[in-house]
Amino acid sequence: MSTVSPQQLTEYVDEPRAERRIQVPKHPQWPPLSRAQKDELKGRIARLLVAQDAVLVAHYYTDADLQSLAEETGGFVADSLEMARFGSESPASTLVVCGVRFMGETAKIINPEKRVLMPDLAATCSLDEGCPADTFTAFCDRNPDRTVVVYANTSADVKARADWVVTSSIALPVVQHLHERGEKVLWAPDKYLGHYVERMTGADMLLWQGSCVVHEEFKGFALNRLRRLHPDAAVLVHPESPDEVVDQADLVGSTTQLIKAVNEMPNPEFIVATDEGIFWKMHQLAPRKTLIAAPTAGVGATCESCAHCPWMAMNALQNLEQVLLTGGREIHIDPKVRERAVLPIQRMLDFAREHGIGVKHDTD
Ligand code: SF4
Repeated sequence: MSTVSPQQLTEYVDEPRAERRIQVPKHPQWPPLSRAQKDELKGRIARLLVAQDAVLVAHYYTDADLQSLAEETGGFVADSLEMARFGSESPASTLVVCGVRFMGETAKIINPEKRVLMPDLAATCSLDEGCPADTFTAFCDRNPDRTVVVYANTSADVKARADWVVTSSIALPVVQHLHERGEKVLWAPDKYLGHYVERMTGADMLLWQGSCVVHEEFKGFALNRLRRLHPDAAVLVHPESPDEVVDQADLVGSTTQLIKAVNEMPNPEFIVATDEGIFWKMHQLAPRKTLIAAPTAGVGATCESCAHCPWMAMNALQNLEQVLLTGGREIHIDPKVRERAVLPIQRMLDFAREHGIGVKHDTD
């Protein structure tokens, strides 16, 4: 395994712990709404979507009401790769992205002619925040012999410096492909996913040291105890989790792959190590299965929300209606940055199409 030297760590890689520089927001407290109030609000939003030729694209980690509204109004609920693809296939002139900022930026990069709105532009991601474009560019410049592969959870500026953009659905086959061509990889920003891909493919990878504040909190020791209490449960793990959690998994995969597993595996119970927002879609597809959240840190935790992303939680029915009423909170990307950033994204989408990966609606 290639890792950065201590000097590089100080000079180029983000601070050893994300929380030293990244402000993790408190979990937003939206005023509670009754079922009737929610239904009324959803009805108003549905009418605004039609009036504005807009479609809702929501990530699996967002609130259940947003996910159901997306499906009820002809929108889409998916992981970030499928969100990007749906956005480009939809005839709507406005995309309303419920998720975090890099998802809105990706939608805008591949759909420059469309208006892209988000309920809250401050909804970011610790991986994106922990990989600033200037230090990342310097890091790449110091390693010109490596193919630069970045995870989708990065800013438009970082994508513009990359050769490939990947999501967790497609990271393994892309790096395997590069490895077979004899290419060495510079990987950013998630160190756990990078290490997992490195172990699985045997590729020569230089890893940026970013992490997700949600997945990093899943704990191996407590998971081991929980598994003993539920011997029939299958353990499903997102590869942004630490090695000691990944090593106990019956299946490691992207959000889409984990949802599919709940539907297809025969186990009656599942212990799930990813954001709990995913349970809505899992329940929808496999209502008889029991879902158990994998244990998080408790004492010593750095993510105050514990198994729920504090930035994803910034998306709510209330600010979704606001953005449709005001038209504010629109994503804009410098055209020069967009021109460069679209190339590695398009490379990923072409690769996915050629290899039949993450085909639309593969969770059904
Ligand atoms: S769950 Fe982690 S990787 Fe996903 S948006 Fe939140 S901070 Fe980023």
